[in-house]
Amino acid sequence: MSKKVRVRFAPSPTGPLHIGGVRTALFNYLFAKKHNGDFVLRIEDTDQNRYVEGAEDYIVKSLNWCGIPFDEGPGKNEKFGPYRQSERKHLYKQYADQLIAEGKAYYAFDTSEELDAHRKQHEAEGKTFIYNWHNREKGRLVNSLVLSEEEIQAKINAGEDFVVRFKSPQDETLQLKDIIRGDISIDTNILDDKILFKSDGMPTYHLANIVDDHLMEITHVIRGEEWLPSLALHKLLYDAFGWDAPEFAHLPLILKPTGKGKLSKRDGDKLGFPVFPLAWTDPKTNEVSRGYKEDGYFAEAVVNFLAFLGWNPGTEQEIFSLEQLVNDFDLARVNKAGARFDPDKTKWFNHHY
Ligand code: GLU
Repeated sequence: MSKKVRVRFAPSPTGPLHIGGVRTALFNYLFAKKHNGDFVLRIEDTDQNRYVEGAEDYIVKSLNWCGIPFDEGPGKNEKFGPYRQSERKHLYKQYADQLIAEGKAYYAFDTSEELDAHRKQHEAEGKTFIYNWHNREKGRLVNSLVLSEEEIQAKINAGEDFVVRFKSPQDETLQLKDIIRGDISIDTNILDDKILFKSDGMPTYHLANIVDDHLMEITHVIRGEEWLPSLALHKLLYDAFGWDAPEFAHLPLILKPTGKGKLSKRDGDKLGFPVFPLAWTDPKTNEVSRGYKEDGYFAEAVVNFLAFLGWNPGTEQEIFSLEQLVNDFDLARVNKAGARFDPDKTKWFNHHY
């Protein structure tokens, strides 16, 4: 690898960090350290409706307890900072404006009632509603696209709510690459013109995420499989800006102990077993979720257990120190298939420490 490896863990502070998030942070950390690179923590807090008080603090404390230190992050070595997206708002607007000026994005003034009506009409016809500019030509109205420049300006001046949408290409097949999943091809006609900038003056996750990955010189994006459907849009955004895209690796899902369905935060209560590193008290309901720390687990055992959720060393060895994990970790040995979460296995690891 020629460029210095830089990876990031980019959680949204929408609640406590569950073990899926810690596993993502861990794999990023292991990859960075293995390649003498940097591990960045970035707080993606642009969705004000989902912001939960105390979540950022919880994330930082959890990483500290697990022994997964970041090299750059909020309040610590903010070389390309700040590292909290709410403090970088001004930047994203500038990039959205650039795409509009180049005809690669556009203002859309549709009200939620109009969008609902479109959706319902499609459902009634047994079709999926795809919001994109080429649907206009098929008689499916997207109001902003039939407006003239002057009409658009007049609406903005009158203070009408708008969003900025990305213009996804028509009739193209995208060839995407993922380190874990291999080659993926996507027909661009199935893509929605995703919102990049919202009426509240905040960017969406997509815009802020790729602008920051570019500005923070991220070389590898290692994140959960739930983000795989966003890969096409992200690649298109890199192309639209004329930036080199980082390499991507989407980690397998963590499954419930039954092996059916994704492990959720609620499963912890059902299992009577932690799925969080630290105990968490919900600020709204005062409900308490148990944590490994308070339940008497060793952080090293939890980290060792998490490393095996989706990765294996290819040998019989099961007990690893963090240094040994750094040494042996390889994205080529991360599975595509979901990894089953097994409380008994966690206990087994803890017993061996
Ligand atoms: N903010 C996103 C999350 O909460 C980050 C996804 C990504 O790593 O690109 O998971």
